[in-house]
Amino acid sequence: EINKIIDYFIKNKTLDYEKILWILSLKDEVIKEKIFKVADIVNKILNTDIVTLKGVIEFSNYCKKSCYYCGIRVQNEEINRYRIPINEIFQIAKNGVEMGLTTIILQSGEDDNYSDDELEALIYKIHHELKTAVSISIGERSKKAYERFRKAGASKVLLKHEIINRKIFESIHPDKDYDLRIKLLDHLVDLGYITGSGNIIGLPGQTLEDIAKDIIFMKEHNIKMIGMGPFISTHNTPLENYKNGSAELTLKAYAATRLAIPYAQMPATTALGTIDRKYQFKALNCGCNVIMVNLTPDKYRENYNIYDEKIKVDLIETAKEIINMGLSIPPYTLRNLFIKEA
Ligand code: SAM
Ligand code: SF4
Repeated sequence: EINKIIDYFIKNKTLDYEKILWILSLKDEVIKEKIFKVADIVNKILNTDIVTLKGVIEFSNYCKKSCYYCGIRVQNEEINRYRIPINEIFQIAKNGVEMGLTTIILQSGEDDNYSDDELEALIYKIHHELKTAVSISIGERSKKAYERFRKAGASKVLLKHEIINRKIFESIHPDKDYDLRIKLLDHLVDLGYITGSGNIIGLPGQTLEDIAKDIIFMKEHNIKMIGMGPFISTHNTPLENYKNGSAELTLKAYAATRLAIPYAQMPATTALGTIDRKYQFKALNCGCNVIMVNLTPDKYRENYNIYDEKIKVDLIETAKEIINMGLSIPPYTLRNLFIKEA
């Protein structure tokens, strides 16, 4: 069967639904490790052995939405809410670029307190003054706003579809924004964004078939960045009594996705690292090629509790671990992080 997968991949440069499902269903340890190796080789041949480090600034934990899994949902009154002022966000981005990062991700809850004007000006300043790529992960905003952000210099957006099974999606998103999200994703692709999406692995009621359909959805919708993280049960949310998603299944999903969408930028996610740090690094040998490091100052970060026990992914520590594994980091990052200091 492995040979069939390899032959199919060589011929088609992708996998179909059945083959993705076969990988997700794998139980045999030896065969599973072989598939991880195949995904790893494909990634390293097509995308090199460089692990891109991107810096996330979690600039606000205010959110007007109520996603059932998320710790910063509007109903959670236990959270200390914060908003980082625009000037401070810029300074944090500047420090990140000086340390060698080449992409700054601006992430937050859905917080209309930052106007489109303010975000547009911030994106323009970060992109043009710091000469860096800007990625935004701020949830649903108007098409017009995303068009303005694109013109201001943002080149990437992260907006996860979370789960393509509509019934499950609507059972955990009370605002039932399924169609809006999908339409917005297509619109972002049309605007010329390198568009990121992804799912949560281990949501209540989700089957392996659902995950295979998530991967097919991303393939068909031209998604170039793929964030897939295990569900992490979080206190004071409606899903607090459900069990965490499986780290093992997450790795299988990474391997299947690498073979289905070979050129994708695919982070080994912080959610996976929170469940098991070793698995986050192992993911770099199962098809992943990105790690997002955290730039949010600690006094804010400790309140960005989207899920319980969220780890801090530190730039220097992560870069050293990647190099120790025999993998590379981008030359610009290497130079600024280590050589400039020496
Ligand atoms: N508010 C924006 C949005 O939802 O697109 C961006 C920030 S949101 C915190 C980023 C991602 O966190 C979501 O897409 C969701 O998949 C993930 N997330 C939130 N709670 C989670 C949980 N308990 N377990 C795993 N992932 C979670
Ligand atoms: Fe808000 Fe995003 Fe959390 Fe949903 S996942 S509650 S939109 S921060």
